[in-house]
Amino acid sequence: MKLVLEAAAFAAKKHTHQRRKNIEDTPYINHPIEAAALLASAGITDEEILAAALLHDTIEDTHTTPAELSETFGPTVLKYVLEVSDDKTKIRDERKRLQVEHAPSLSYGATLIKMGDRISNLRSVVNEPPKGWSVDRQLDYFEWSMKVFNALQKKNEVLETLFLKEHAEGLQLVRKRRDDEHTFRYRMAGLRRYLKARMMRLTRYGPP
Ligand code: ZN
Repeated sequence: MKLVLEAAAFAAKKHTHQRRKNIEDTPYINHPIEAAALLASAGITDEEILAAALLHDTIEDTHTTPAELSETFGPTVLKYVLEVSDDKTKIRDERKRLQVEHAPSLSYGATLIKMGDRISNLRSVVNEPPKGWSVDRQLDYFEWSMKVFNALQKKNEVLETLFLKEHAEGLQLVRKRRDDEHTFRYRMAGLRRYLKARMMRLTRYGPP
């Protein structure tokens, strides 16, 4: 319990100024918390795995160093985080290819974290698509996520079933989105979402 909460506090601090790339500017920390919560809901109680799930994007997306993680949370947590971290010096397509290539050899803990990460990210693409992502890019993301899923070892049936369900339902929605893309209705919904988000920001923070 202590390790997990400390990981939550550490990750929250590291991701403080980060937002997800969606139109609502959701706090970044929502994502690792969701990934860790998915694992807990699937019956995973190993504290090092849950802590690593909370920390899984700190090395990739913040200035956190491996030494810092190792000193604070130990070598096993660091190992899991490193296993699921992309090499940011590589271009996006190469990173995505490597994720599929490395998926089968991930440890038990890293496999579960990857599964939680995939589910959380699929949900984001469906519910709060990143700014500037065309529907084709969203569809590509679904296709690539399935490749990662297929390459991962199957270690937890609850997570696997959930992934397949979210993937199938999400894909249906994104395909519908594609069909609607050129209609007036689709454009108006986007405008409404945008205006709602701006209004919420205005009421919450006042004018910029
Ligand atoms: Zn992630």
